[in-house]
Amino acid sequence: MSFEKLNLHPSILANIIALGYKTPTPIQAQGIPVVLKGQDLLGIAKTGSGKTASFVLPILNQLLTVNAGERNRQPRVLVLVPTRELAVQVAEVFKELSINLPQPVKSMAVYGGVSINPQMKAIYGVDVLIATPGRLLDLQGSNAVDLSKVETLVLDEADKMLNLGFQDEMQEIFERLPKRRQNMLFSATLSDQLSGINRVLLLDPVVIEIEEKVDEVELINLSGYFVSDDRKGPLLRHLIREQDMKQVLVFTSSGLKADKVAGKLSKNGIQALSIHGKKSQSARMGALDKFKSGELRVLVATDLISRGIDINELPFVINYELPRSPKDFVHRVGRTGRAKSEGLAITFVAREETHHFKVILKKMKRYIDMIDSETLDF
Ligand code: AMP
Repeated sequence: MSFEKLNLHPSILANIIALGYKTPTPIQAQGIPVVLKGQDLLGIAKTGSGKTASFVLPILNQLLTVNAGERNRQPRVLVLVPTRELAVQVAEVFKELSINLPQPVKSMAVYGGVSINPQMKAIYGVDVLIATPGRLLDLQGSNAVDLSKVETLVLDEADKMLNLGFQDEMQEIFERLPKRRQNMLFSATLSDQLSGINRVLLLDPVVIEIEEKVDEVELINLSGYFVSDDRKGPLLRHLIREQDMKQVLVFTSSGLKADKVAGKLSKNGIQALSIHGKKSQSARMGALDKFKSGELRVLVATDLISRGIDINELPFVINYELPRSPKDFVHRVGRTGRAKSEGLAITFVAREETHHFKVILKKMKRYIDMIDSETLDF
């Protein structure tokens, strides 16, 4: 399958080539034709699958080809996302793929945690609005945006929106949209709660499920250390220094622990920040930006965060604490070695967690020769 076969507008194809995408990912190859036909879509796919472009590309194509001349100054496309980070990422993909189109497509991300006034001013005339639910309702409540012209609705990372407690806001937004529209819903998993939303939202949807990419995880080098709790901090610093890690993502199981680990690293002269659900949006965004640009050496994060962040080709991920489930483990280590570049994921395991770690590895069909940190000199 090639992008040329997908019947996309030549100017969109040119942008795909400029981004360096060579072939469509499975969710793109299967999802784009469905959206172009105007059908509703339920995509079970996670970050890393190429899901964003799978809805951005056909949406741009529709904007260029269906009712193209119609410019009603109100959004024709609404993408709902759980976090500011995702809003910014999705808006970026829209922007990158909208360069030099025969008819300009204006997209914009709106999210809470920052002042609403600049967003109110900039929102007029936007074709594609990417929004977190609470801020969208605020903007709508103050008449800054009219949702009555929305033709296409996308719920991105719908499972996470529910986990973050956005159910009521989502419901309110659905009620303000025109009844006739195309719907797409993307989620990493399918829960009972989500099935409820699917039933009310999607009209006879085409369901595309992208399997966990085991072979991608296979590409990642895994290593593990037996280490007691009190030695984890020193071991972390030792590894960062010894392996000269310039950019490393560290996972803990709680926000409190993430703060502690980042604080201890900073005290020892290794620049680190933490991100988790209790941090403000702007603090999260600031830390993530610094980390992505290479300015920040260590980012310490929790699992909640691991699902929404798009960091490519990360050389190192360290599990300071074991995740609860194999799924979370895959999510965490999937941050490294993406896009076919090699990565190393290191896991710290306390002796009493050996069984739990073995269960995780068995699910991934992997085996690790553990290193006993007691044998190391640090
Ligand atoms: P997503 O799952 O949408 O978060 O995308 C994950 C990453 O894959 C992003 O960095 C995209 O730029 C990249 N990507 C998306 N589609 C393709 C493609 N067809 N070929 C190569 N990379 C892609």
